Amino acid sequence: MDYIFPPQAPSSVPVKGESAQFPVNRVFCVGRNYAAHAAEMGGEVDREAPWYFMKSATAVCASGQTVPYPPGTSNFHYEMELAVALGGDAFEISTDDAMAVVYGYACALDMTRRDRQQDGKDNRRPWDLGKDIENGAVIAPITKAADLDDLAGRRIQLAVNGDTKQDATLDDMVWSVAEIISHLSRYYHLQAGDMILTGTPAGVGPVVAGDVMDGQIDGLDPVQHRLSDQ
Ligand code: MN
Repeated sequence: MDYIFPPQAPSSVPVKGESAQFPVNRVFCVGRNYAAHAAEMGGEVDREAPWYFMKSATAVCASGQTVPYPPGTSNFHYEMELAVALGGDAFEISTDDAMAVVYGYACALDMTRRDRQQDGKDNRRPWDLGKDIENGAVIAPITKAADLDDLAGRRIQLAVNGDTKQDATLDDMVWSVAEIISHLSRYYHLQAGDMILTGTPAGVGPVVAGDVMDGQIDGLDPVQHRLSDQ
């Protein structure tokens, strides 16, 4: 195939124990998947069905980077999340079969322009400026599902400059990984390379230039992200 100019290389994420990278296809993000976070945002979880927004694959940022405070916001927030990496195709898959397409798991940060997200809510407009942010999907190295026992009871935490801000367990998720994959697969032909950020627990808040975020989930490689001094 001839292209007018060379296409961008795909975004990719390292995999623990592999020299090859995991190429990222799409990034689906689940909204309000922890009741305590929904409450702090002034809302409630929707127990009828999960719902989603997207981040561009080009928004993926490796863990351990230092990046500038983004333009267009004065209220830039962290959201610590479990990322699920898919290694197979799935369409209209049942919850019983859904876990078979999981390649692995990673710590992730759903970085958010909270002020632009609020504009979207106030004006009934999409959230893209609030959520689809360059370097705004920070993803740590993937641990293969085969190398991990189940997710039950794992603690998820985030600290800013060493102070713990978020502290919950994955059991607090309203929709399980299997339920999310099954539900999404009713709307999309899910593919290997798709990733799902599964929502954040309570305790979100702002970061400023020079701040460093350290996130962890029991048994996974931690995520670190730093905003450069300005
Ligand atoms: Mn989120």
